[in-house]
Parts: sequence; structure tokens; C-alpha cells
Amino acid sequence: MLEKIPRIQLANLPTALEEMPSLSERLGGPKLYIKRDDTTGLAFGGNKARKLEFIMAQAKHEEADVIVTGAGFQSNWCTQVAAAARKLNMKVILVKQGPREGYDPSEYDGNHLLHFILGSDVRVVADRYIQDVSKRLCEEIRKEGHTPYFIPIGGSTPLGTLGYVNAVSEILSQADASKIKVDYIVTATGSVGTQAGLILGAKILDSNIKTLGFSVLLPRPLVNNQIMNLIKSTSELLSVDLLIEPEDIVVQDEYLGEGYGIISKEIVEAIRLVAETEGIFIDPVYTGKAMAGLIDQIKKGRFTKKETVVFIHTGGTAALFPYRIPIKAMIESKKPPWTKPPWYTRALSILE
Ligand SMILES: *Cc1c(COP(=O)(O)O)cnc(C)c1O
Repeated sequence: MLEKIPRIQLANLPTALEEMPSLSERLGGPKLYIKRDDTTGLAFGGNKARKLEFIMAQAKHEEADVIVTGAGFQSNWCTQVAAAARKLNMKVILVKQGPREGYDPSEYDGNHLLHFILGSDVRVVADRYIQDVSKRLCEEIRKEGHTPYFIPIGGSTPLGTLGYVNAVSEILSQADASKIKVDYIVTATGSVGTQAGLILGAKILDSNIKTLGFSVLLPRPLVNNQIMNLIKSTSELLSVDLLIEPEDIVVQDEYLGEGYGIISKEIVEAIRLVAETEGIFIDPVYTGKAMAGLIDQIKKGRFTKKETVVFIHTGGTAALFPYRIPIKAMIESKKPPWTKPPWYTRALSILE
């Protein structure tokens, strides 16, 4: 079904599906596996590489020479887009949300440093104007004789969502080959394309794997709505007619904490536990929050010992470094000087 849709190879696939025996034993719950989408190979890896394989094929088809997108100041999405664009010989303009217009920190760190190294044209705007500014920029660029291609935040478009429809078939063949029966796939949910793709992929492949998304950004009703809409538009793109029930969309928002990008003790504990038991680094904004949620759900007895859970490592580890101050303090059980980062902006506005 996906074979007919143009795609550019940007990710090293399949990514490994690894067992996490020490973490499973430590938590005493279900059998835990990790799908290493942090090793997709584009820039520092991550889930956006799968989406970009389809999105950038469209951009190329439209003969774009400038990619325009936007997101938060320390955005993993922007890093992967910039890397893909440069690899395909296109320019990239990143419209990022900052604490104020033109925000330019004295130290470049994490993804912001990577955006700079990749030679992106970075425009920092205050609060909620990403989409408007991006559209205006596209018009200007067109007048200058260029062909811009705008990608909405997170690549959570029908084309981008195909990346995770495809990931389900990858997981199922790996599970089959290793004789594993997967009961749950767990992911961090932000702009929702990953979870929407996973749910749709399982439906298309007639698998009864349940997808569990831990929201890092928005409250559940909004997330549910966005997922349902995206599944519908992606189904149309694929010309499939499947019945998605509201029960198929399982989102937990209890672990949002104080909001997007705000670090907590639970997140730091999750990052440390996964590193100590499995030698794998997860990130402070997405996978750390989702893992903290998963750990709590395991402690609350949500899963049986016989069940198997695949946690998608969606990447984002470059963000560990700009969070080093609170991470170090929390590991030493000290009060961190901040939990809300200096580049923080009111997150809700990103996706409203
Ligand atoms: C973008 C991102 C997610 C969330 O994926 P969505 O498809 O936007 O929901 C999860 N983890 C990391 C590291 C990300 O960068």
C-alpha cells in the first residue's frame, strides 16, 4: 500500500528492536523492549526521520529549494528537517518560538547549536506566530524567485504519518522473526503524528497491538481529537476505509507535569534508570516523560508480567545537554536552580 507513495531514503531502517532485560527485572512488570528510533541516522536520529522520508519526497517533487518550518526553540524536529534539507541540497528557514522576539542566547547548546551548525536561517519569534510568520516568509521567498515548501510543526501531516504506519509493519516483522508477541506499543506524543501512524498501522495490518501515548504537550481531549483527525486524513491519502473507534486512541496526560519542556524529578529518575540498567540515554522532554509515565503505570499494575511492551525511543537526546544544570542537581537530590528552561515559551500556543 505504501509502495505507491514517493519516498526518499533518509533513515537507516529497520532500527533495532532490543530487549531491556535489566530494566524489566528492576521494575518487575511486563517484558520491556525498546525500538531504537533514536538511531535512524539522520543528524542525531529520531522519529522525525521516518516522517521526512515521505514529506521530503513531496518537497522534491514540487521542486522546492527552500524548506520552511517552525517549532520550539530547542526543537528536535527543526534539527532533523534542517539535516534532511541540507542533505538534499535545499536551504532551510526555521521559525522558532523563543521567550522574546529575536532571542539569541549567549551560549549555543543542544539543538539550537545544531541548527546553527547546519547553516539554517533561524528566525526567533515570540509566542504564537510561527505559522503566520512562516506563511508570510514563503510568500516573500516566492517573489524572490525561489520555491519554498512549508512543513507544519512536527511533520504531523498525512504524509509524515505514513512513517509510523510503516514502523508498525517493521515492528511486526521483527517481533515475528524473534517469536515475540507484542501487546503494547508505547510512545511520547507531541504533535501526534507518531501515535496516529502507530494506531492506523496496527489497524491496517489487522493487529490487535494497543498503542499507548504519553502526552508531553497538550491535555487528552485535544490530543484525542487531533489523532482522530490525522488518522482520517491519512486514511484518505491511502484510500483505506477503516473504522477507528474512540477506544483505539489511548492517551495519558497525567504525566504532563507543569507543561512542555519543564523537567521534573520523575523525568530525571527515568533518564537515570534507563541509563543505569540498559546503557541507553533517553531525553528530558519526550522519552523521559513518557518513560516516567510508563514506570508509574507499571508500578500501578497496569500490565501483567506475561505482557510485552515495546517502548519507541523517538530520539531527542541532544536535549540532555542544555538541561545539564537541573539534571545534575536532581541526581544529587538538590533543589535545581530552574525546572522551566530559560528558552521556555508558553507551549500550548505552538499547536493551537
Ligand atoms: C517530535 C518528538 C516526539 C513526538 O512525536 P509526534 O509525532 O510529534 O507526536 C517524541 N519524541 C521526540 C524525541 C520528538 O522529537
